[in-house]
Order: sequence, then C-alpha cells, then structure tokens
Amino acid sequence: MTVREALSEGVTVLRRGISGSPFLDASLLLAAAAGVDSTSILSDHLRDLDPAWLGAYRDSLARRASGESVAVILGRKEFYGRDFLVTRDVLVPRPDTETLVAEGLREIDRIGASRPGAVRVHDACTGSGCVGLTLAAERPGCELSLSDLSPAAIGVARRNAELILGRSVPVFPGDLLSDVTGTFDLVTANPPYVASALIPSLAACGVRDPYLALDGGADGLGLFRRLVPQAAGRLAPGGALVVEIGEEQGAAVSGLMKASGFSETSIWNDLAGSERVVLGRMP
Ligand code: GLN
Repeated sequence: MTVREALSEGVTVLRRGISGSPFLDASLLLAAAAGVDSTSILSDHLRDLDPAWLGAYRDSLARRASGESVAVILGRKEFYGRDFLVTRDVLVPRPDTETLVAEGLREIDRIGASRPGAVRVHDACTGSGCVGLTLAAERPGCELSLSDLSPAAIGVARRNAELILGRSVPVFPGDLLSDVTGTFDLVTANPPYVASALIPSLAACGVRDPYLALDGGADGLGLFRRLVPQAAGRLAPGGALVVEIGEEQGAAVSGLMKASGFSETSIWNDLAGSERVVLGRMP
C-alpha cells in the first residue's frame, strides 16, 4: 500500500466521525505510525508503506474515529513552541492559552525589573503543566511551583517538568491554593470555567477533555469565586493573578478581583478576538 492509498483510506474512515480535518488528522497519524514527521510523509505520496506501520495506523484511525483527539493518540501537543506530553487525564493545551502565557511573561518581567531576586510563580489547576512550565522555560530565573486536584494530571505535569525544564519542580496536590505553601509574586491559572450545562454540547463537537478540567459549575465562575480570594491572600505586595476565562466572563472575574482587594484589573483578548485573560494586581 502506498502513502496515497493509506491517506485515502484514513480520510474515508475519519469522514464518518467527528473529525473536522480528516486529511490533516490522517497525515499526522500516518506519520506517527511510521515514526517520521508529516512533511516527509506528504512529500512522497507514491512511497510504499512498510506493512508493519499499517496496523498501528489503522488502530489510531479507529481511536480518532471514535472521538479521541489526535493529541491524546499521539501522546503530545505543541504549545508555545514546545512539545508537551498529554494523556486523556489533562486538558489538551490550546493556542488560546498562549494569551495567558504572554500576560504572565509580561508580569514576570515587570516584577523582576522592580526588585532584585527571583520572581516566585505558582500555576494552579496546572493540568499538563503547560502554562507554568512554559513561563519557567521562557524565564529560567523564576521560581516555579504547580498544583492540581487530579493525581493523574499531577503525574503528567511532573513528567513534563523533566521533559521541558530537565528538572523537577515543587508540585502540590490539592484544590486550588488550599494545600499550597508559600507567598508568590505571580499566580496563574486556567481553571475549569465552562458552565456545567454547556459541557454536553462541547462533547458533541468532539471536545474530549476531562470533565474535571472543564466544569466551572452552574455559571462557569465557581472556581474563580474560590481562587481569587485565595490568591489575594497569597500574593506579595505588587503581585499579580492572571487567569484564563471563557468569553463574556471578563467583567464578572474582574469584579471578583476588585472585591478581593486587587487594585488594578484588565481584560485581554485572544488572537481570535475573544476575551480570554483577566489580570489583577495587588496594591
Ligand atoms: N477553552 C476550553 C473550552 O472551551 C475550556 C477550558 C477551561 O475550562 N479551562 O473547551
């Protein structure tokens, strides 16, 4: 079987499922089964495939057709230029979240310029660790810790710390900041913020992230109501909280920050133009 025939078989299988991009998905899965990158697969359509690759390719097509994401099947997802390990226990890193990283980096630079010493960063609801670990990879001078409620997610974050930073970082299992020790200059979080009633419609569109990573309670703001006051109590003077939000949650989350003593708040859009991040600074 040639590459072209295998891709055409893949497209036929995936068209029947929820994939919005059957050709791209089939190319990525075929390249992974063959252990090469997708450009080299696509550059030689007439090449004969090693039959040993076909079994793995067909297995991954079946998983994709049944709704599993390409990222989870491949076990990795690129985020901010680095490859993170992902499993079905974590939210798959999304480009939207790069907005949270960009604001986090700006705060690290602002705080770092204002005084000597390492900037202390904590990433709550860390999941794969993609936000916190990217901040530490981009600004190696900062001190990072992570937390998450899910033991399985913590396992993934620890492996990513080794993969991305080449070292371990302190990880606190537990709910939001309840079991985290220390005082921080920057707290980041991409908490679950989807209103519970909307999750089935996301699932119908092919979103397969863990329920725990999405469910923000009746109005989606449940986690922010607890996280914002906790963070206010743990930030050093002049420190900042930067959180990812759902569209249209900006005003509500900045209101929560004001009520908890944050003196300056701002709302930032993602590249698609939707409200995506709220930043609050302590006086
Ligand atoms: N952006 C995700 C979605 O809409 C939600 C992520 C989250 O709840 N933190 O599927």
